[in-house]
Amino acid sequence: MKYSALALVRGALTRQANWPAVWRSPEPKRRYDAIVIGGGGHGLATAYYLAKNHGLTQVAVLERGWLGGGNTGRNTTIVRSNYLYPESARLYDFSLRLYEGLTRELNFNLMLSQRGLIDLAHSRHDLDSMARWVNAMHMNGVDAQLLTREEVAARAPLLDMSPEARFPIRGGFLQPRAGTARHDAVAWGYARAADALGVDIIQNCEVRGFSRGPSGRISGVETSRGPIASERIGIAVAGHSSVLAALAGFRLPVTSYALQAMVTEPVKPALDVVLLSPGTGAYVSQSDKGEMVLGAALDLFPSYAQRGSFALTQGILAATLAILPAFSRLKLLRQWAGIVDVVHDSSPIIGATPVPGLYINCGWGTGGFKGIPVGGWTLAHVMANGRSHELAEPFQLERFLTGRLIDEAAAAGIAH
Ligand SMILES: Cc1cc2nc3c(=O)[nH]c(=O)nc-3n(C[C@H](O)[C@H](O)[C@H](O)COP(=O)(O)OP(=O)(O)OC[C@H]3O[C@@H](n4cnc5c(N)ncnc54)[C@H](O)[C@@H]3O)c2cc1C
Repeated sequence: MKYSALALVRGALTRQANWPAVWRSPEPKRRYDAIVIGGGGHGLATAYYLAKNHGLTQVAVLERGWLGGGNTGRNTTIVRSNYLYPESARLYDFSLRLYEGLTRELNFNLMLSQRGLIDLAHSRHDLDSMARWVNAMHMNGVDAQLLTREEVAARAPLLDMSPEARFPIRGGFLQPRAGTARHDAVAWGYARAADALGVDIIQNCEVRGFSRGPSGRISGVETSRGPIASERIGIAVAGHSSVLAALAGFRLPVTSYALQAMVTEPVKPALDVVLLSPGTGAYVSQSDKGEMVLGAALDLFPSYAQRGSFALTQGILAATLAILPAFSRLKLLRQWAGIVDVVHDSSPIIGATPVPGLYINCGWGTGGFKGIPVGGWTLAHVMANGRSHELAEPFQLERFLTGRLIDEAAAAGIAH
């Protein structure tokens, strides 16, 4: 069913009784041409592009919980492509460009809001590195603009611009095309479109093991709902990537940490840009419901518990109030965490694994929501063709053996 203004009117006239289910809930078949493990944004996008770009429709997405219940439904919804290195800029800008057309393509409102993102400079050194950063972005063909102190103040009047502030604001840089998108809608939009192309989306189906044929090639998965055969399997399980890799018999350079976020009570529109302060670690935006969405750093210890530590909660609040003291009057409404998959160079892994026929998309760490379209696009490509998409070439697992890292982590604290 196509969603449209006409469909809304029709719904109103029929007491909203005729809306079909957004996706089916089929029983798993015994065999598929391709299986994607993980019903987060990356897994669902992979299934959609397998069907749409490569004509593979005998595809299953296996999700142990509910769709988008992992990091896709837990993140702070920021989308951007303000990366330093050309490989990353290409990857993330392709993703942002896909996002720009996705609401129409999926016929599902992703509420993409390109309100702009400002990285705040707190020192002369920040300003210097931001000038270099903006030049690099221009050379990579990505929009970016250096801002003076006054220009920052004009765009975010609630910021504490006093020179005596603990973290004085000296200026910043803006990516105008960055912003936010509705995270649940991204999962649901891809799920609905994939389902319409024939993909089976199977929730409450945990993958507990892998089977291999005599040649060593992958031949299927053991699940909580029985064995399912396929000779082409993709893993997109974020914080649980090393668990799945261990089940398949190989190791990943991934460490799992809790990353937390929180929202305040909703208030009237007060902030129409995304703010990021690398100096304090705070980042904040206002949701469409009016809540202030706050996030900051990783917990300091590895964990699979989907709750953050109190020390970090305090740290996030202190960092936010250091730049936005007016927020001290807001009440905190909710706090939560997700388990993110961190690799040494803060860049994703998209491609083949040591097991023939088994592919992986992971390592997005704290920043993979913005990468969902390109993560799905490139994982689908390698699953369908057996060779990497050119955008994903630099992001192979083997770079941890050859040392060809794309060290966005070292490229200042600006990326998050
Ligand atoms: C608090 C927080 C804030 C963030 N903020 C941002 C941001 O502002 N911008 C940004 O770009 N990124 C952000 N991120 C990162 C982003 O959310 C993730 O990188 C992205 O959502 C990962 O998507 P995914 O589909 O790979 O993983 P997930 O959405 O986590 O999906 C993986 C799925 O795999 C399932 N699974 C696990 N094990 C199994 C199994 N054995 N069998 C079957 N299914 C399994 C899980 O249940 C889960 O649903 C943030 C993350 C967090 C936690």
